[in-house]
Amino acid sequence: MHVLICGGGVIGASIAYFLGCRGVKATVIEGTGVACAASGKSGGFLARDWCDGSPLAALAHRSFDLHAELAEQIADDWGYRRLDTYGGFAGFPARRSAYGLDWMSGEVTIAQALGSPETTAQVHPGQFTQAMMRAAQNQGAELRLGRVTGVARDGNRATGVEIGGDVLQGDAVVIAMGPWSILAALWLPLPPVFGLKGHSLVFDTGTKIPAEAAFLEYREPGSGAVLTPELFPRTDGTTYVCGISGEEVLPVDPARVTHDGGALYRLEAMCRAISPVLASSPILARQACYRPVTRDGLPLIGPVAGIAGAYIATGHSVWGILNAPATGEAMAELIVDGAAHTLDLAPFDSARLPPLDPASLRMSG
Ligand SMILES: Cc1cc2nc3c(=O)[nH]c(=O)nc-3n(C[C@H](O)[C@H](O)[C@H](O)COP(=O)(O)OP(=O)(O)OC[C@H]3O[C@@H](n4cnc5c(N)ncnc54)[C@H](O)[C@@H]3O)c2cc1C
Repeated sequence: MHVLICGGGVIGASIAYFLGCRGVKATVIEGTGVACAASGKSGGFLARDWCDGSPLAALAHRSFDLHAELAEQIADDWGYRRLDTYGGFAGFPARRSAYGLDWMSGEVTIAQALGSPETTAQVHPGQFTQAMMRAAQNQGAELRLGRVTGVARDGNRATGVEIGGDVLQGDAVVIAMGPWSILAALWLPLPPVFGLKGHSLVFDTGTKIPAEAAFLEYREPGSGAVLTPELFPRTDGTTYVCGISGEEVLPVDPARVTHDGGALYRLEAMCRAISPVLASSPILARQACYRPVTRDGLPLIGPVAGIAGAYIATGHSVWGILNAPATGEAMAELIVDGAAHTLDLAPFDSARLPPLDPASLRMSG
């Protein structure tokens, strides 16, 4: 069996890895570069129980546990560690609190502990994605650089993918192109996937910040707008901060994602106000990326209805790094055995949502 995976983000790489664990050959076709999009520019924060009470709970539990197992099993380093997580605010009247973070300014009230090393963890998402791809390649997977432009079909069966003028034949095709999976809804009966833009900064903080993640509400002086920054110090001596979303439509080409200088300026000003450590640290990266979302907020994980051999795995929204391993494991079971055993994929069936109306497609470039 030969499985063609369209997209070399965290989802595509994880599916290739778990197919390799089952002895199945995968080829990942990536148009720009492994982890070039959200999978390389997101927070990499992992929480075991923050999806409890939603249809994502079992996926998140399994995936959180798999992250720990993968860090033990694969001889590579992607900055996995358990950490404490706190919630707080700034720009609102201060409050007495039992908590405090040494690297935050006096403007910040840390109001509560949101997670402990038992329930929260992190990875460097780009390094994790690259490591999963490398581990898949060590098991025989291939990485092919090229832009997928269509799915080849023999009637109602997917037989390969079109890459420019060529057709690469395979026994199964998986769409894992993140927000660009919306293009696959022109090729297959699939609902739309949208891209929501987020901006982030990466600071060179060295060893000045301990393993403490923070989720804040910050009222901007002047505008009064409330931002919700997320701050993740990492094992490589950097600290990642995201917090400002944008409305720009997704560019057709992932290489043409740009950041908005105004959004990054606001994010930087906020960082300097809330943390003297961030205020004195050089900025290593100013960036933006799009998270893939569906109309109901749940991912699409499973077969494409009516087209044998076609599958989709995308739409993981803010939890794509967390939920990639369990998605990869379940997709490998589905493709190889005909059904997933570790998870019930019914809530993620793409047929629950109406297919894309091509007239509604909005992209730039
Ligand atoms: C600001 C921000 C912070 C986030 N923080 C977290 C977090 O802390 N924890 C967490 O769990 N999640 C987080 N997320 C969400 C997470 O990053 C995403 O859900 C996840 O990366 C999506 O992975 P993906 O593989 O589906 O898509 P992507 O990473 O978008 O990868 C899709 C790949 O497909 C390729 N591609 C596109 N079109 C084609 C084509 N035609 N042919 C070939 N290849 C193609 C692209 O080049 C890209 O490499 C965050 C997201 C954002 C935006």
